Amino acid sequence: MATKNGSLQPLLVVGSIAFDSVKTPLGTAKKVIGGSSVYFSSAARFFASVKMIGVVGTDFPQSHLDDLKKLGIDTSGIVTHRGKTFHWKGFYEGDMNQAHTLKTDLNVFAQFRPVLSASDRNHEHVFLANIDPNLQMSVLKQVAKPRWIACDTMNYWIESQKSALLDVLKHVDISFMNDAEIRQLSGHSNLLRAARWVMKLGPSIVIVKKGEHGVLCVWKNRVFLFPAYLLEDVIDPTGAGDSFAGGFLGYLSRHKNAGEKEIKNALAHGAIVASFNVQSFGNERLAKLSQEEITSRYGFYKKMISLV
Ligand code: AMP
Repeated sequence: MATKNGSLQPLLVVGSIAFDSVKTPLGTAKKVIGGSSVYFSSAARFFASVKMIGVVGTDFPQSHLDDLKKLGIDTSGIVTHRGKTFHWKGFYEGDMNQAHTLKTDLNVFAQFRPVLSASDRNHEHVFLANIDPNLQMSVLKQVAKPRWIACDTMNYWIESQKSALLDVLKHVDISFMNDAEIRQLSGHSNLLRAARWVMKLGPSIVIVKKGEHGVLCVWKNRVFLFPAYLLEDVIDPTGAGDSFAGGFLGYLSRHKNAGEKEIKNALAHGAIVASFNVQSFGNERLAKLSQEEITSRYGFYKKMISLV
C-alpha cells in the first residue's frame, strides 16, 4: 500500500473535488464525494505517494477529507474557501459509455488560483486532472523541473476554454481524453488521426479512453489497444477515466524508463483499478480496495489479453 511503502514516488494532482449527483440505469446517488482528483488519487495511492491540490467549500464535510487521509492521500494542499463545493450532476443510459451533464456548478473552483509550496514545486510527476485549463496552466507554471506532466479534460472545457487547453497540451507529456472529446478537439473523426493531431501539439503519449471498449494508446510510431476488464455489474462509470489515469500514472511513476513494457503494464493497471471503480457510486469501492484484489484481477486480465 502507498501509505506503508516509503519508496513510492510522489505524485501531485490538481483537479476537481466535487459533490456528484448521478443517475445510472442501476440507481441514483445524490451529492456523493467525487471529482476528477478524488477518483484519480483513490486509484493512484496504490502505486504512488499522492498529494492533492484543490479547493472545497465550507459545505464539504471534514469527514470526507479525513476519509481521503485514511487512504494515505496527502490532503494538505486542499484549501477551504467560503462558498459551495463544486457540484456536477449527470446521468448515463444504455451502454453507459457517455456521461450526459445536466449541471456543472463550479462554485469555489471559479475563483480558485492554487499556490504551490516550495516542496510541491519540486514534484517530478504531475497530473493535471480535469478542471479549468487556466488552472492547469497555473500549476504547470509553478512546477520546477517535472519528469513528466499528464493532463485530462472534457467537453465542457473544450467548448469553453479551447485555446487555453491547447496551450496546456503544448507543455504536457501524456494526454488523456475520451473518444468523443479527442474527436471534438481535433476535428478528426478517425481516432488514430485525432491522436496524432494531439501528439503534434506536444504529448509523446496520447491515451484515448473508449469506455467499455478500453483504451487506445499512441506512443512514438506504436499503437497499443487494451480492453476494459469487463464486468456484468457496472453500477456507475463516473470516475472510470480518472481512476484509469491514476492506475496508469501511478504505475509509470515507479519506473525510471517509460518504454513499451512499462507503458503496456501501466495500461493494464489503469484498466484494473478503473474496473473496480465502476462497481459502486462515488469512490466507495476504490476506498475498500486492497492490493491483493488488484493483483488477483491483474492475473485474470493478463490471461484475458494473452495470445498463449
Ligand atoms: P470521469 O472520469 O470522466 O467519469 O470524471 C468524472 C468526474 O469529473 C466527476 O466526479 C465530476 O465531478 C467531474 N467533473 C464533471 N464535470 C467537470 C468539469 N467541467 N470540470 C472538472 N471536473 C468535472
